Amino acid sequence: RWEGEAEIDYVFKVVVVGDSAVGKTQLLSRFTRDEFALDSKSTIGVEFQTRTLTLHRKRVKAQIWDTAGQERYRAVTSAYYRGALGAMVVYDVTRRATFEHVSRWVEELRAHADGSSTVVALIGNKADMPAVRREVAADEAARLAEEQGLFFSEASALTGDNVERAFLTLLEEVFAVVS
Ligand code: GDP
Repeated sequence: RWEGEAEIDYVFKVVVVGDSAVGKTQLLSRFTRDEFALDSKSTIGVEFQTRTLTLHRKRVKAQIWDTAGQERYRAVTSAYYRGALGAMVVYDVTRRATFEHVSRWVEELRAHADGSSTVVALIGNKADMPAVRREVAADEAARLAEEQGLFFSEASALTGDNVERAFLTLLEEVFAVVS
């Protein structure tokens, strides 16, 4: 290995799914680079981004996959899901339809990701938007998450609120499953 490159104990594949424009790419870029990219579609074609962190004294490389727009064409392939240990299902708190599609995304995940051991988080993004624009209440989403056995958090890729915490909670859960 290269000098200075820490030994990696685990690689966790995490997929991010949800309707178009809910903020998947921005959440990923916030977590992996602490950036909100103004040119938001600059990552088209990029399959995943990584961030390496230490959990319980182990070096964990989180490999976070972005659909790169495939969801627009309903063409998210099973290769995308294959081997995913964690998943984030993202909706936009200002667009009700994106929340109504959450169950469909969860089913798709369960059908394609290997087994039921994939840890799934439900994320209501764009929590920074003014209250008058909101179309989904946090407690309604929390109820759905509880029914489906998902971890839930609202977040904002724009301000960074809860993004780190949401990803870390998911990675901790994955760690608990695999270790
Ligand atoms: P994707 O299609 O799900 O990957 O969505 P993008 O990450 O490309 O974001 C779609 C649009 O929502 C872009 O115009 C982003 O700038 C905007 N956006 C993403 N996250 C947030 C957020 O947390 N707050 C606000 N206000 N806008 C956001």
